[in-house]
Amino acid sequence: MIAVDLHLHTCHSYDCATSLNDVVTGAQRAGLDCLAVTDHNTIAGALKLRDAGEFRVIVGEEIGTADGEIIGLFISELVPPGLSALETIDRVKDQGGLVCIPHPFGRRYFSPSTELGANEDGRIRLSKAVRRTSRLLTEEVLERVDMLEAINSRTVFKSTWTAIGKLANLYGLPVSAGSDAHTVREIGRSRVLMPDFTDARSFLEALRKGQPSGIASSLFIHFGSIYARISRKPC
Ligand SMILES: [Zn+2]
Repeated sequence: MIAVDLHLHTCHSYDCATSLNDVVTGAQRAGLDCLAVTDHNTIAGALKLRDAGEFRVIVGEEIGTADGEIIGLFISELVPPGLSALETIDRVKDQGGLVCIPHPFGRRYFSPSTELGANEDGRIRLSKAVRRTSRLLTEEVLERVDMLEAINSRTVFKSTWTAIGKLANLYGLPVSAGSDAHTVREIGRSRVLMPDFTDARSFLEALRKGQPSGIASSLFIHFGSIYARISRKPC
C-alpha cells in the first residue's frame, strides 16, 4: 500500500508560497509516497516537480470553471479556466485524465442524515439540498466525474465528509482525500492509503480499494493563504 495526498498547492498557485523543495521535504516528513500537485489553473509546478524526479508526482490542476472548481488528474496539458463544467470535463478526459470534484459541499454543513437524492429506476435525482449547494452538483456533471473528494482538511465540518461519501456511494464513485495544503505543515493531513498503480486506469481501481483518512486543519490555516497572497514571490 502507498500513501497519497491527492490535493495540494505550490508557489505556482496565486495563494500559496510553498517552494517545490519545501513540498518535497513536507511530503517526506509526512511519510507520503506520492502527491497529486493541483495548483490553481496551472500545471507548471506539477510538471517541474515530476520532472525533477525527487518525489513521485501525479500532475493535476484545480481548474476554476464557470460553474465551480474541478480537479483534473493525470493530465499533460493545461485546461484553461473559465469554461463550463461539462466542457472542462471533456478537456480533461480527452487527454486521458481523471475528473474529481474537490470539496463538493464547500463550507456548508451537511449532517450524515441530510437527504442527498434517490435512485429512481436507474436514474439518480439529486435532492434540493445538494443542487442548491453548487452549480457543479447536477445529475449531468456527477454522471461524468470519476471521483468525489470526500475528505479535505480545509473543510469546516467533519460530518460533511460522511455526507460526501454517501453521495459518492449513490453514484458508485470512489472517494479521494487531500490536504488542500497551502502551507508545508498541512501536507499529508489527508491521504489515501491505496494499492500501487501505474496509470490513470489502475489508479481508479486502486482508489476503490483505498482507505481515505484525514485530520481537519484549524480555521486559522486560512490566514496562511491570505498571508501567502500578500507576501508571495514568484517561484
Ligand atoms: Zn485546492
